[in-house]
Amino acid sequence: MKEIDDDYKIILNKIVSNMNIELETNDYFMNYVINEAKKSKTELKIGAIIVKNDIVIASGHRKRSFKDNRSFHAEEICFNNLNSSAKGGIMYLTLEPCIQRNNKYQNVLSCTDLIIKNKIEKVVIGVLEINPDICGRSIQQLYDNGVNVSLFDYKYKKALYNLLGKDFIEYQFNKWKLYKKGKK
Ligand SMILES: [Zn+2]
Repeated sequence: MKEIDDDYKIILNKIVSNMNIELETNDYFMNYVINEAKKSKTELKIGAIIVKNDIVIASGHRKRSFKDNRSFHAEEICFNNLNSSAKGGIMYLTLEPCIQRNNKYQNVLSCTDLIIKNKIEKVVIGVLEINPDICGRSIQQLYDNGVNVSLFDYKYKKALYNLLGKDFIEYQFNKWKLYKKGKK
């Protein structure tokens, strides 16, 4: 765990220095989206909110439809809950957004694409994906498309990891270990 924690810090520092990313200071909205994530009834708790003029205009948390076993990402639900344009808004997310949906949902836009399409001005991300195939990539994609990115303060990391649950983190950490092994 410690080894990966160190790796995480290295990647984080690299991203932060390469893209001029700042740490978010608005504790109110960071706590707001953490509470939104807690509403998820799935093991993996993820939340998303959109803020405009200091008001939360939409929120969403991860859901799974029991009917067809389709999972709905927090960002997707958040955009579906919008009553007005999200253009120029700030989106707070507890986890780095996905850059592609799995094969089953090929016709569904990734959350990173949704953010770009909806012209969100800035995204504030809780923790990075631990999966090395994704880690930091959505941030790069957002940055390349002119979306500002900032990150939650490190003090939130424990609360954010708790939302993801032990099984998910172990699964992702194992992927990371394999990835590291492959590199050596
Ligand atoms: Zn997604």
